[in-house]
Amino acid sequence: MDYTKDFRDKGKIGVVLDRIRAISRKPLRLMEVCGGHTMAIHRFGIPSLLPGHIRLLSGPGCPVCVTDRRFIDQAVAYARMPGVCVATYGDLLRVPGSSSTLEREKARGADVRVAYSVLDVLDWARRQPRLLFVFLGIGFETTTPSTAAGLVQAQAEDLDNFLVLSAHKLMPPAMSALVDEGVPLEGYLAPGHVSVIAGAKIFEPLARRHGKAVAVVGFEPLDILQGVAMLAEQVESGSPRVQIQYSRVVSHQGNLKAQALVERVFRVADHWWRGLGVLPASGLEPREEFARWDAARRLPVEPEPTRDPAGCICGDILRGTSSPSDCKLFGRVCTTSNPVGSCMVSEEGACQAHYRYNHLARR
Ligand code: SF4
Repeated sequence: MDYTKDFRDKGKIGVVLDRIRAISRKPLRLMEVCGGHTMAIHRFGIPSLLPGHIRLLSGPGCPVCVTDRRFIDQAVAYARMPGVCVATYGDLLRVPGSSSTLEREKARGADVRVAYSVLDVLDWARRQPRLLFVFLGIGFETTTPSTAAGLVQAQAEDLDNFLVLSAHKLMPPAMSALVDEGVPLEGYLAPGHVSVIAGAKIFEPLARRHGKAVAVVGFEPLDILQGVAMLAEQVESGSPRVQIQYSRVVSHQGNLKAQALVERVFRVADHWWRGLGVLPASGLEPREEFARWDAARRLPVEPEPTRDPAGCICGDILRGTSSPSDCKLFGRVCTTSNPVGSCMVSEEGACQAHYRYNHLARR
C-alpha cells in the first residue's frame, strides 16, 4: 500500500483491518504519545475496530496535560504581579494550579491574554513598552522552534519587556522513562508532528536499547490503522525498529533548520512532568546568551506549595497505567464544563477524548 497516497481511501480500511487480524496473534499494548492521535483514535472509534487482544493506551503526549502544576503556580504568581501580562495558548488558561487558574486570575482583573503565536506577544511588547510580557512556552519538539524564533527576534530588537517561561519538553526521555518504569507495552505509535521537526531518528534508542516497536503515524484513521499493522508485524517477527508510516511529511532527519534554531537558543535540562516527576534531560531552557529573556532567571518568584486535587488520577493516565474510566470523578464531578484535572481541560487530553467520544456518545 502506498502510504503517501492512500491515506484518505476509506475502501482500504477493511484491507488493513484484515491484515491486522491475519498477522497479529500476541497480546499487543500500543501507546500513543500525541494528543492529536488521542483525539483521532477516539473520534474515529479505532479501538472498537481492532481485535480484542490489541489495546491502545494514551501516554504523556498532550502538552497541556503534562505541564506540571508548579509551572501553573508560577504563571499564576506572575499574573498577580502589577505591571506583568501573562500570555499563553488558550488551553492553558483553565488548567488548575494548586489554588487557582489563569482564567480565575483574569476574572479577578489580572492581565492574562490568549496568544495564537509568539509573534502576537512580541507585537504587544513593542506596543506597550511599560508592561512586562511573560510568554508561557509549552509543548514538545513541534512548538519549540517558534518560541526559539521569538527569543532570537527579541534579542535582535533588544526588546527588554518580553520574557519566556519555558516548559518545553522533549518526547523521547518520557517514552524511555515509561519503559524503564516497567509500564507494560510492546510498541509506540510515535507522534507525527514532533517527528516532522525532530525526525524519526529520535526514536531509534527506543527500538535499539529498549526493544520497543515504533511506527511514526499520521492522523487519518487509515494512518493509525496502518501504524498498528506495522507494529503488529514488528512484534510478531521479533524485529523492533522505527518505521515511518507518515512518510508524506516525516523523514528520518527531520527539519534540520528548525533543529539548528532550537539548538542555538535552548539547552537541555531536567524538567518536571505531571505524573512522571522530574525526568533527567527531558526539557529545554534558554541558554546563557538568552538569559535576559528567561523569566525563570529574570523574574524569580516563590510559588505557593503544590497541591494536587483529591481523587484526580491524571498522573496514572499519563503513564498509561490507568484509563479515564478508572477515575471515580470521571463524568460525574469532572466534566468538560467543570474539569478537575488537566487531562479533562485540554482538547487533546485523554479524559476529554473519552468524555466527548465515549461517555457523551453513549448517553
Ligand atoms: S476524569 Fe478528571 S479528575 Fe479524573 S483523572 Fe481525568 S482529569 Fe483527573
